[in-house]
Amino acid sequence: MKPCVLALLVLLTASAGVFAQPAPASGGAAPHVAAAKKAAGQDHLALFNNLCSPPPTPQPPQTAAPGGGQPPAAPSRERWYAPPVKVFDNLYYVGMSEYSAWAVTTSSGIVVIDPLYEYSVEEEVVNGLTTLGFDPKQIRYVVVSHAHRDHVGGAALLQERFGARVVMSAADWDYLASDPGRYPKAKKDIVATDGYRLTIGDTTLTLHLTPGHTPGTMSTVIPLRDGASRHTAILWGGTGFNWRSGSPRYIQPNTPAAYWYDNYGKSAQKMRRVAGQAGADVVLSNHPQYDNSTTRLALMPTRGAGQPHPYVIGRDGVDRFLTVAEECALAGPLW
Ligand SMILES: [Zn+2]
Repeated sequence: MKPCVLALLVLLTASAGVFAQPAPASGGAAPHVAAAKKAAGQDHLALFNNLCSPPPTPQPPQTAAPGGGQPPAAPSRERWYAPPVKVFDNLYYVGMSEYSAWAVTTSSGIVVIDPLYEYSVEEEVVNGLTTLGFDPKQIRYVVVSHAHRDHVGGAALLQERFGARVVMSAADWDYLASDPGRYPKAKKDIVATDGYRLTIGDTTLTLHLTPGHTPGTMSTVIPLRDGASRHTAILWGGTGFNWRSGSPRYIQPNTPAAYWYDNYGKSAQKMRRVAGQAGADVVLSNHPQYDNSTTRLALMPTRGAGQPHPYVIGRDGVDRFLTVAEECALAGPLW
């Protein structure tokens, strides 16, 4: 190799290293960040980089809540469209390029988890299921992990058009009702409590309250089939530390940032326990960068018979994911 090429490579590698690393943690945050970094390995780095970054400089209190105010014009399709993909025998990706929606097929109909925005649900979920060979009239339930518009915005269409029952926690039904965002809201329907079991035909999904990302975020345990193999997924219901923006929807005198970090960390710890008990070996997200759907979905169509499943990361992989979430939440108030 020519020296100039070598020098360029060294420079590129060094600069990539600089940009890939979050700022070093200080004070009490450091041990938790180190624990999170160790747990992240190579496969959970996107989660680590998002959650274990230092808090932004405090902003003056906002007057508009996230998702509030005037509805932004729907972005053009080429900016968000992603094709539907079969992932397991009973699980399909029907999401956008940056927002995931999942369809669980059962012996008695379909459950959609997180129906995207109001502007993309028809193209991704309704048309996606049709492309995959399913009848969208078979959508019986819509499980909403949390009431942010990118995940709940499409629920009203599925409720109205197909009579699908919409499932959400009490706290997030309230959160939706108080959202000033101007988009069609699903009518209040099924209120899921902690440990809620949603049984449809041969399949039972279990919903667990994991507050933090929103007051009533729910994470779901999903049984999966891959030929003769059986697997179990945890869908982590909400990822980002939203309160860091200073939004009044989170930060109030009795709910300061420490309250949200505490909730989030306890939720991650609880799901580690749930995942362990369920033997979960797959982790799913509602944003494709966190569960590596960005790369894994592309592998699915060409996966040969007998090849390992790209989404199966083992119990340890699932536990490491949730450990990153827990440790970064513990680090949060200590930066
Ligand atoms: Zn969200």
